[in-house]
Amino acid sequence: MAYLTKYSTTRISSQTSELLDRPLTADELALALKTSKTGKSPGPDGLPVRYYKIYTAILSPHLLTAYNDLAEGQPLPTQSLCANITILPKEGKDTDLCSSYRPISLLNCDLKLFAKILAERLKPFLPALVHADQVGFVPGREARDNTMRTLQLMHHARRSSQELALLSTDAEKAFDRVDWDFISLSLIRIGLGPHLRAWIGALYGDATARVCVNGVFTAPFPIRNGTRQGCPLSPLLFVLTLEPFLEAIRLNSDISGVQVGPQHHKVAAYADDLLFFVTKPEVSLPAIMVAFRDYGRLTNLKINYLKSHILNVSVPDSRAQALKPYFAFTWAADKIKYLGIWLSSQSSHLFRDNFPPLLTLIQRDLANWNYPHISWLGRIAVIKMNVQPRLLYLLQTIPIDLPRAFLASLRSLVATYIWRGKRPRTSYQVLTRSRAAGGLALPNFSLYHQACHLQRVVEWSREGSVKLWRAVEQELVGRPMTVLPWLPLKVGRKLANSSPYVGATYGIWRRIAIKFNLTSFPSPMTPVIHNEDYLPGLDPHSVRRLILTPTPRILHFFDASARRSLTDIMQDRHVSFLHSFHYAQIRHYFDGIPQQHQLGRPLWTFERICHSTGPLSHGLSLLYTLLRDATPAIPPPYMGKWESVLNITLSDDQWSKICELTHHCSTSSKLQETAYKVLSFWYRTPDIINRYDPQVPALCWRCNDALGDMLHIWWECQIIRPFWARIYDILKEFIDPLPEFSPAALLLHHNNYSIASYKRTLAIRVLNTAKALIPLFWRQLTPPPLTLWFTRMEELHSIEHLIFKASDRLPLYSEKWSNWVLRSSTTSFRALL
Ligand SMILES: [Zn+2]
Repeated sequence: MAYLTKYSTTRISSQTSELLDRPLTADELALALKTSKTGKSPGPDGLPVRYYKIYTAILSPHLLTAYNDLAEGQPLPTQSLCANITILPKEGKDTDLCSSYRPISLLNCDLKLFAKILAERLKPFLPALVHADQVGFVPGREARDNTMRTLQLMHHARRSSQELALLSTDAEKAFDRVDWDFISLSLIRIGLGPHLRAWIGALYGDATARVCVNGVFTAPFPIRNGTRQGCPLSPLLFVLTLEPFLEAIRLNSDISGVQVGPQHHKVAAYADDLLFFVTKPEVSLPAIMVAFRDYGRLTNLKINYLKSHILNVSVPDSRAQALKPYFAFTWAADKIKYLGIWLSSQSSHLFRDNFPPLLTLIQRDLANWNYPHISWLGRIAVIKMNVQPRLLYLLQTIPIDLPRAFLASLRSLVATYIWRGKRPRTSYQVLTRSRAAGGLALPNFSLYHQACHLQRVVEWSREGSVKLWRAVEQELVGRPMTVLPWLPLKVGRKLANSSPYVGATYGIWRRIAIKFNLTSFPSPMTPVIHNEDYLPGLDPHSVRRLILTPTPRILHFFDASARRSLTDIMQDRHVSFLHSFHYAQIRHYFDGIPQQHQLGRPLWTFERICHSTGPLSHGLSLLYTLLRDATPAIPPPYMGKWESVLNITLSDDQWSKICELTHHCSTSSKLQETAYKVLSFWYRTPDIINRYDPQVPALCWRCNDALGDMLHIWWECQIIRPFWARIYDILKEFIDPLPEFSPAALLLHHNNYSIASYKRTLAIRVLNTAKALIPLFWRQLTPPPLTLWFTRMEELHSIEHLIFKASDRLPLYSEKWSNWVLRSSTTSFRALL
């Protein structure tokens, strides 16, 4: 307790504590259920999440009563607390060793729901209780906050000749080890109320588990330690319990970190992944060891020395060598891995150590995924699921500018994979467009790279950010980050170059700001403080007397394009001579700006994002979409081709409807793929092949009578037309009014229906199934037989039945398919085939 009295320094208020103690509500339970995934293994009682989802109405009141009774200190029945532990072998390890197996404990679902409710309740208060050093499991914080901060600190230490070494420690099974009594005391110390503590105690106090060995369960045994895997509350409790240790490090005057202005940076944490910024290593390292020992005695936390790494950043070599024998850590030669990225002792190696190796890895993975049965859309999905997340993680965590050559080789790697090394049939520009704009939403990595840097520009611009990396950058730049992106180029560039990472982001920002219409210079966002173009503003207090905000900008002096008067600005405040003087100065400044029309205009989208406050949720995808859709909208070439083939003109709205229906035509990705291939002129018709290879006749292979162009092969050929006529007869059974009998209506779904109502019809399925048969009979003299079409429809029918059933949407299935069930077996229908 003495430890906690000393180092557990933040508490929640008594009001908050009461708020956290109020009875659990049906809404909270409903939310927890809604966000629980079905399809996972249940606990010892065998009841899966689905059971609770289906019978919510019946179970909810009982569950709530049971949960709320626990607040009075009643223990949970032993059976409900029991967990099943299953042992899974770790891949590629020796199966004879205990350490080669990973235990997974399966809890009962009612318990997991309970833990989830408590976790959701606690989460909003974590940021206030946990210092910004810790970014794991705290809402609004993420891994890249730590990596960006570390890179900045390394740069700063080198530049300011502070002798820095990085120590990254590995805690042995940290989550499972922490002693329950210590957790319990920490919770009292931070001021949690009796109910919340009783609830948490019910979950953790008397836990038991049994192990499943070769399919047989052992007798249950008690667990005294720790937080548990698979329990959503565990990581939050762990983070809270670790906080006193981190505070002990911060308060320990023997441990020196990197000094940046007034701030002293000693440690960064991502849950139990700790990184120490160590200066004066001769004194600091032993002090850190003592701190670990003290904390370990109380909590069982242990450090694995061999798996802890030290990287020398700027300590003179001779002294680093002298330290080695005293510490059992692994001394890294020139880089250490932290949160999945390599931190290099030389900042110039950062790119080399991280990006090309990932490219090699991606190349190897794509080679492994190069099975012939993976379809074209499947390959695009592989890029999105396998390549995109790993690349985005690097792009977000390492804020550097990338060489063009890297992005180019990435792009060619992706293209080679998608097109199996052959010549692309659809351009990269088209594929990367959104689906509604006629593409396939293939990720454009160079836009993602720019979006990652824009995300930083947004984080700079927003008021009230508490991110530590931003504070370090601000200290290096020497101006508020809120003004930096919006300053005149000459000043901005000079300031940004005080750090390579700020410089990289600033450079990219200025390169793309005008190109993508993100802003203008000047813009309403231009600051009137710390801006050399407005000299009186270099003393910010003068302007802040008028505008009561930390960063007064031009926009604060305008109201719907009109300049605000002094009385309007001052509202009820007393207007002094000084106020009038400052106002006159600013008016004079505005009058001298050549692009007057930019000053009072409404904010553009990106500016609006920067001008908002609070954390930016889904920032990256938001900014990526912004950039992608701002790219000059030349329609995909295939749209023009269709218009000339069909001799019609379609509006943008009509095209986006066609695109939408193409992508949502069915649950079968095979049908979707064919639909998109038809739309995008993927298929090589004789007239096209003839252009490459004059040996091949340009005539239709079926009738040998006309030019084999797109329209002929798919529609006009005398051999294929009867096929469509019969499909059209069948269509009469399933849709009323009928779309017209034309290639635009039957091949592209250009019709008078709304998207939503057409999607619900069977017509779209009838047509897509028919369409998909034509490539199957490519180069054959006969049209596809209707019996085959019928078989395909039956296959689609059974697949959709399964899919809708599995996702609890059977009514939707019936709406679509009841007509089919009714008619497809009648003799009159069979006669159509
Ligand atoms: Zn023909």
